[in-house]
Amino acid sequence: MYFYFIQFKRIIRDMTAPARWILTISLSLALAVTAIAQRTAAATVQHISTPLTVLTNMRLIDGTGAPPRDHVTLVLADGKIQKICDDTKSCDVPTAGTNANLVGKTVMPSLISAHSHLALLNAEGNFDSAQYTEENVIKQLEQYERYGVTTIVSLGLNKDIIFDLRDKQKKGQVDGATVLTVGRGIGVPNGFPPMGAGDNQLYRPKDAAEARRDVDETADHHADLIKIWIDENHGKFPEMSDDIARAIISEAHKRGLRVAAHVYKLEDARRIVNEGVDILAHSVRDKDVDDSFIALLKSKGTWYLPTLTVDESFFVYADRPDFMQSTFFRDSVPAETYARLTSDAYRNKVLSDKDTQQHRQDFTIATRNLKRLYDAGVNIGFGTDSGAVLGRLPGFSEHRELLLMVNAGLTPLQAIACATSHNAAEMHLSDRGTLKADMNADLLVIDGDPSKNITDTSHIAAVFHHGHRIEHIESAK
Ligand SMILES: [Zn+2]
Repeated sequence: MYFYFIQFKRIIRDMTAPARWILTISLSLALAVTAIAQRTAAATVQHISTPLTVLTNMRLIDGTGAPPRDHVTLVLADGKIQKICDDTKSCDVPTAGTNANLVGKTVMPSLISAHSHLALLNAEGNFDSAQYTEENVIKQLEQYERYGVTTIVSLGLNKDIIFDLRDKQKKGQVDGATVLTVGRGIGVPNGFPPMGAGDNQLYRPKDAAEARRDVDETADHHADLIKIWIDENHGKFPEMSDDIARAIISEAHKRGLRVAAHVYKLEDARRIVNEGVDILAHSVRDKDVDDSFIALLKSKGTWYLPTLTVDESFFVYADRPDFMQSTFFRDSVPAETYARLTSDAYRNKVLSDKDTQQHRQDFTIATRNLKRLYDAGVNIGFGTDSGAVLGRLPGFSEHRELLLMVNAGLTPLQAIACATSHNAAEMHLSDRGTLKADMNADLLVIDGDPSKNITDTSHIAAVFHHGHRIEHIESAK
């Protein structure tokens, strides 16, 4: 019944007049949305379709990297893109009265983060296992969705309740960004990841046999991927042994699951890709990549997630950039975290921390490596590690990542393609990531033109997820 209840809530929200054809005009946004009520008794129908929506006269970025198209009309029905007309004037749309002038607005696929985390931090931004509750997970999924990130991969440190939540979400019973997950993930005893996650949130196998059992338990939950951590933290931590890593990768592949690895060093990345890992979940940051590494990634088809915001998050707030004043940023941060990030104590600590210089250097190398790997034709995806530690902010960080990728030398359309069509390919999601007929109606309406100015993605006029319009967030101006 809960399913019907939340669907009913959505229908009520979408229908503001008792008619078969409903026109909802958002005057403040000059965005017109039509809805058809195709049902009379919502609580009794088996399959509830979403409202029909017509978006006219848009600039369309389709997510493939192709140039934008102007004056496009999109028809959304039943949660899908029913059709796209390149000529608005001759488009046969099944309604009248929806001709709001949307010139100047852009529609693009909503974002997919292939590396995020859920419900790990308390209001101050510190890791706290008690935070991982169903309520907090859903709250965070809703935040991603409001920010236009409608699919996320929760890449480790999940409690097993995530599997049940994901399954309920597939039935339409849980709102927010669509979640895929690795479950707990597999770390190293007394090593990475360093947070004090308990046994119910992380595996730390002591030998290969235990590692295989951990993979099997994760696979039995129908996880979407397996996650491992390969990092000795500048010699401070023990690293996952080769035989454990090999056992995990072979067992995962036997169970039909691919493996994503946290990495930092070039030599670790090279070794683990040679072992058959499928996704590098961070940039190589200790050294510039070399030709043989590039050739290796290309020959194996390995995916590479730059996560530039990871390195920047260690120091950017101490530099007090202008964006910290924006509503778009502030709305993504709990008040206590905001107070901490803007405090003199925090700034002084970061600026005097001997690791800060290392983080700045890591960021510079990661940025350089992204451009080189992209130009060489390596599979580049998109992720942020949002939600993992202080200052990695669900929703906000994804828009920041797009800018950092552009600053690295990608064009805005290339960065957007990484976060949409590339990531859909990376996660084998054939129903999203590109705007064309029959794909999910997962899209953003943007004030401005992100193909020219990537920061326009933060000027969100509307988010659609499965054809439902998501509650508006105040956009950055
Ligand atoms: Zn992570």
